[in-house]
Amino acid sequence: MSAPDRGAGRLKLAVQKSGRLTEHSTDLLVRCGLKFSRGKDQLVGYGENMPLDLLFVRDDDIPDLVEEDVCDLGLVGLNVVEEKRLELAARGHEVRFSVLRSLDFGRCRLAIAVPDDAPWQGVASLAGKRIATTYPYTLARYLEQNGIRADIVTLSGAVEIAPRLGRADAVCDLVSTGSTLVANRLREVTTVLESHAVLVRTPVALAPEKSEWVERLLMRIDGVQQVRESKYIMLHAPRSALPAIRKLLPGSESPTIIPLEGHPDRVAVHAVCRENVFWETLEKLKAAGASALLVLPVEKMLA
Ligand code: ATP
Ligand code: ZN
Repeated sequence: MSAPDRGAGRLKLAVQKSGRLTEHSTDLLVRCGLKFSRGKDQLVGYGENMPLDLLFVRDDDIPDLVEEDVCDLGLVGLNVVEEKRLELAARGHEVRFSVLRSLDFGRCRLAIAVPDDAPWQGVASLAGKRIATTYPYTLARYLEQNGIRADIVTLSGAVEIAPRLGRADAVCDLVSTGSTLVANRLREVTTVLESHAVLVRTPVALAPEKSEWVERLLMRIDGVQQVRESKYIMLHAPRSALPAIRKLLPGSESPTIIPLEGHPDRVAVHAVCRENVFWETLEKLKAAGASALLVLPVEKMLA
């Protein structure tokens, strides 16, 4: 008789083992309330207070693991998801996994760069050129959409040095600050894909208790993402200044207005602003008659 599956009924979520998404991914889950301990091999994180375990893997494997239902969920870059989606489609496979949420980390872009001294008159300059990339399907789609014929040189890494080695005339690579390009004497000329991390899910229907936890997790993720930018603002103001002040509060819904004891014409205003509150806004509020201004970070939010 086989041993009972200890993992039955538990969600499996794939995250990058070691790389640019790892810390942001685990940080998001911890902010969602997850406490986990890592197994000896460091490959699994066992959720201690939720029926959810983490699988630490290479980011490129995440779409397959989710597509094949080895994992229920995954946190991965949209760039990897798009490449996989196009690759599957090119091979005549139906793409079944889906993107549940866009996340506010892992921002980067897949961009085309050419050597500093190479001429550039728009995308047409790529015609007939060799472009090195680790994203051949995404690049092919971009070229096709722009009606350009070029040679795609598929590499597994170190794309940025391909022009210097004479292997390519241009590169199509991930960029965030652009410093790697500058260091390799390349100049960014056009964006192929804007990317950020996403949460993906298996195409297979989940058991009700798993499904319920996915819903809870999504609600918490939304809450975490909202509070990252949100601020709680408190101030005092003359009643007559309220219309002007309400207009100045960034991204706030109906604020709470509280009378001030002993000051019939003055009130306290409390509001959640779903955008960051900058010094300029505070200065304008003050000019509109506000005083005793206080801006606080928001810890948790549940709509
Ligand atoms: P792995 O060993 O897991 O395959 P990797 O080397 O492919 O790691 P990383 O460089 O850690 O991956 O990048 C992981 C993801 O982080 C990228 O797919 C992308 O979504 C995102 N990212 C954000 N900024 C950048 C950047 N400047 N360069 C590369 N990726 C970035
Ligand atoms: Zn990778």
